[in-house]
Amino acid sequence: MLLYRIFAALSLLLLLPLSLCAEDYYKILGLDKSASERDIKKAYRTLSKKYHPDKNPGDETAQKRFVEIAEAYETLSVSSTRKIYDQYGHEGLKEHQQGGGPRAHDPFDLFSRFFGGGGHFGHAGGHRKGPDMEVRLDLPLRDFYTGKEVEFSIDKQQICETCEGSGSADGKVETCDKCGGRGVIIQKHMLAPGMFQQVQMHCDKCGGKGKTIKKPCSVCHGHRVVRKPVQVSATVEPGMDKGTRMVFENEADESPDWVAGDLIVILGEKEPELGANDEERTDGTFFRRKGKDLFWKEVLSLREAWMGEWSRNITHLDGHVVQLGRKRGQVVQPKSVETVKGEGMPIYHDGHTEEETDDDVGSLYVEYTVVLPDQMESGMEKDFHALWEKWRKKNGVDLGKDSGRPIPPPAQAKDEL
Ligand SMILES: [Zn+2]
Ligand SMILES: [Zn+2]
Repeated sequence: MLLYRIFAALSLLLLLPLSLCAEDYYKILGLDKSASERDIKKAYRTLSKKYHPDKNPGDETAQKRFVEIAEAYETLSVSSTRKIYDQYGHEGLKEHQQGGGPRAHDPFDLFSRFFGGGGHFGHAGGHRKGPDMEVRLDLPLRDFYTGKEVEFSIDKQQICETCEGSGSADGKVETCDKCGGRGVIIQKHMLAPGMFQQVQMHCDKCGGKGKTIKKPCSVCHGHRVVRKPVQVSATVEPGMDKGTRMVFENEADESPDWVAGDLIVILGEKEPELGANDEERTDGTFFRRKGKDLFWKEVLSLREAWMGEWSRNITHLDGHVVQLGRKRGQVVQPKSVETVKGEGMPIYHDGHTEEETDDDVGSLYVEYTVVLPDQMESGMEKDFHALWEKWRKKNGVDLGKDSGRPIPPPAQAKDEL
């Protein structure tokens, strides 16, 4: 009986993989059912590049993955098929396709609709790579400290989605009859009677493209590309430095004629300004950064600098508080610098942020400025004056004499008090 039970359990385990053999499309794209259209697109862009056979030569698992990713994207990017899939799964989809639904595209076609260049990367198949694109992104220091997922928009040439880069409204592209598809024509110029020069010229009928379109696409007007804003999201890691170049492979201007170049986002640091909300109103907003260290100036009154017994709460870039202070009797010299270890920038190394220990994090350097009062109430002034006189006579020190330097004329003598 027990043996039978074990056997039953085993067979159940063996059956389990069978029911899972068609992998969930959301899982393939690393998403869940709540994913937005944009999430799906984004996942496809990232994953299809990662598993492209050009990048994984000889790796069959990657190639299979590439096809699966294309399949998952094709299904989930169209709302009608996504609905069917959500409700009836792979089986429902199969039935739908047999009933004349849209057939799956060639995965390389799909790839080229995103990145241009016939579905391959520049280094394979002789496809040209388009120009790289540089964008500067200025961020407040806070974002470099805490790290941030930054969303911004850039204007970019994109393959027209309506005609899928053909430029034609009906999908028909004809070979130019004037140049025979070569894009150039040969013209003969007579230099002298009987003497000809052959000149190669751009075909004027097709504009050198070799192809003509009878019905141009209404969206791109036959240009095959459109220029429009596109959202980019960049992950700024804690501790990244200004000047960091983040490379987004194949995310520059697109064209059916080339593989899109790289989009390079260069991080810059914004001038500090007092923000609108509380989160932006920290002292840290005005910290200055130098590599892994931060710098801050703190102002003390004469009494505080000399007599001690004061405290300050400095709100750091992420809002946590750094306490500064001295006990009674502890003197702070003007221009002196206090090092607060572990309160500088986190340190970013390619790919990961260091575990935060005091040694790995920069320091916060606080420079003290001491402000003397301009004016005193006359009573106070008299009190101080009397006090100075009293203590000066008692144990004033002649600094010139004590330090062994030549004794200056009396007018220049310095007091300690
Ligand atoms: Zn032509
Ligand atoms: Zn178009």
